[in-house]
Amino acid sequence: MKRKVVLELSGVERHYGQGETLLSILRGADFSLHTGEIVALVAPSGTGKSTLLHIAGLLEHPDAGEVSVNGHPSNGLSDDKRTAIRRSEIGFVYQFHHLLPEFSALENIMMPQLIAGLSWAEARARASQLLDYMRIGHRGDHRPAELSGGEQQRVAIARAVANAPLVLLADEPTGNLDPETAHYVFDALEALVRQSGLAALIATHNHELAARMDRRVTINDGKVVEF
Ligand code: ADP
Ligand code: MG
Repeated sequence: MKRKVVLELSGVERHYGQGETLLSILRGADFSLHTGEIVALVAPSGTGKSTLLHIAGLLEHPDAGEVSVNGHPSNGLSDDKRTAIRRSEIGFVYQFHHLLPEFSALENIMMPQLIAGLSWAEARARASQLLDYMRIGHRGDHRPAELSGGEQQRVAIARAVANAPLVLLADEPTGNLDPETAHYVFDALEALVRQSGLAALIATHNHELAARMDRRVTINDGKVVEF
């Protein structure tokens, strides 16, 4: 079976101005992500992992180059259109959970679905199913502050996939967790990705976790290279 490219970066450049000097973080980065694969992005701090993920997730504009989601180029699209693609096709998980503190775990997972126009009942049913899948069904009524770090990240992952995106982007999602919890959370993430046939690009410093993914890439000289 020929696998589809769901995310493609070509010739992506990103430069930050710092006083007189220009910091070139991405210098013609190319990368393709296919349906069903999980790719690790492993590179030292400051090399541009977050920058790359934000550009891939249409959260930031590249200075040059193109990002295509599901075969559709994003250059030239209005901000509204980019937001629409981001909401329907891309799930994002951060190192810090970024859950809404005043809402329960269940409500946090319902939120993107309600924004997408699902009914309360539909959103609740799917949120509940996702929580069960992440093995925290019993924690649905708790607010983020009442959850452990591993539980918070599992809720954040469930929220990221709530609208059944094509692509999951995760920026050091287990970076704040102890090794055992990190493994547990990654197991849940992996099972979810495998079961739903999504594609994932996951930045991590954890070489053990990276070894379990399908491919590993790094950022070298502003380019994405396999290793
Ligand atoms: P990583 O996630 O791999 O640690 P980042 O993508 O966060 O790396 O950052 C890459 C480099 O770009 C760092 O040197 C950082 O200081 C710089 N950088 C990131 N965002 C900005 C910004 N908005 N303005 C200036 N420099 C930035
Ligand atoms: Mg980063």
